[in-house]
Formats: sequence, structure tokens, C-alpha cells
Amino acid sequence: MRIVLVGPPGAGKGTQAAFLAKNLSIPHISTGDLFRANISRQTELGKLAKSYMDAGNLVPDEVTIGMAKDRMEQPDAENGFLLDGFPRNVSQAEALDEMLKSEGMKLDAVLDLEVPEDEVVKRIAGRRICRKDSSHVFHVTYSPPKADGVCDACGGELYQREDDSEDTVRKRLEVYHTQTEPIIDYYKAQGLVVTISALGKVDEVTKRAMSALSGEDA
Ligand SMILES: [Zn+2]
Repeated sequence: MRIVLVGPPGAGKGTQAAFLAKNLSIPHISTGDLFRANISRQTELGKLAKSYMDAGNLVPDEVTIGMAKDRMEQPDAENGFLLDGFPRNVSQAEALDEMLKSEGMKLDAVLDLEVPEDEVVKRIAGRRICRKDSSHVFHVTYSPPKADGVCDACGGELYQREDDSEDTVRKRLEVYHTQTEPIIDYYKAQGLVVTISALGKVDEVTKRAMSALSGEDA
């Protein structure tokens, strides 16, 4: 199966992608991992991407597309893949279609994780991280620490990352709406979109996604 996963920040996309890829025995290809791998291996595309990032600029679509193409041509992606973070705009989606077409392939589904905007803000803006160990993560509503502002694991001070502030989350959602969401209509025109609710426990969402992808009612 060749699948594209889309959804706003805070939908739990990375977590779902990992579980779904495992269940479907296909590689999980995330743009974040692609960038890290290409930069650490110092590929031509990696060096190019780094030069843009170092200058504080966005990496051009052609570079991202090139990395994705290389990855999709690896032997483990022969029977399919799950793309996470790519395509993130309509021109990348068009380029992906071209690329697949030239290899005689096509996408099987676009899984759209839906979560209400206020829920996204609540999920992200409620996160609190431990200053001593950033793997100690709490949530003011969903997994509150025993004492306000204090890490249960090590007693460290809990804080909210700048990236998680409500203002930043709203800005990221705005970028998602204007740049990424249009790809859902683009793929709807091809009859590929499967929409599921991303609310609930992680394993419930995975189950919902698996049955939606297999064509059953979620
Ligand atoms: Zn801690």
C-alpha cells in the first residue's frame, strides 16, 4: 500500500504513522527523518538542504522531492510506504504524482487525521516539559504532575516550550490551513481521501485507521 498521512499539528501523526507502518509492514517515511539521514550522510541533497537551513531559509520543494524519491526507490519500499510530512503543499503533491506515474505506480489512499482546532490547541498548549530531562513530559489536563510545576520523575521544574505556546500553535495551524489542507481537496478529486477522527486513545485511533484503510466502516 502506498499511503500519504495528513493532519494538523497535534493530531498525533508521527505516533500513528509509526504504528500503521508497522501493522502494514511498510516503511514509515517522514520528512524529518529524510532530512536528518541526508544531512548526516552528507548526500548532495543533504548538503543543499543544510545550506538553506543554515541560512534560515525554507528548503525548496525540489530538494525535498529529490530526497523522497531516493527513499521511495529503496528495496524496502517496493511494496509500499507511508509518507508523513510529505507532500505538504499542492505543488509537492503534483510532483509526487508525476514521480509515481513515471515509475508506473500510484497512491492507494490518503489518510486524513481530523481533530478539532480547539482540541489541537489544548493538546499542545497544555504540554509541560521537565527542565532536567526533556523526556519527562506532562500535560496540565491529560497527565498532570502530582504537584503543580514539578516533575514527578525527578523533581525538576516543568515549563512550556516556546513552540507550544498558544500563539505559536495558532500560527502553525494557520500555515497548515493555507498550505497543507488544500492537498486534501486535490486528493479528494482523485477519490483517495479517507478521513478518520484522531480523538481518543492512540490504539483506538490506530484501529480506526486500519479498518478505514481496509475499506470497512470505522
Ligand atoms: Zn524530570
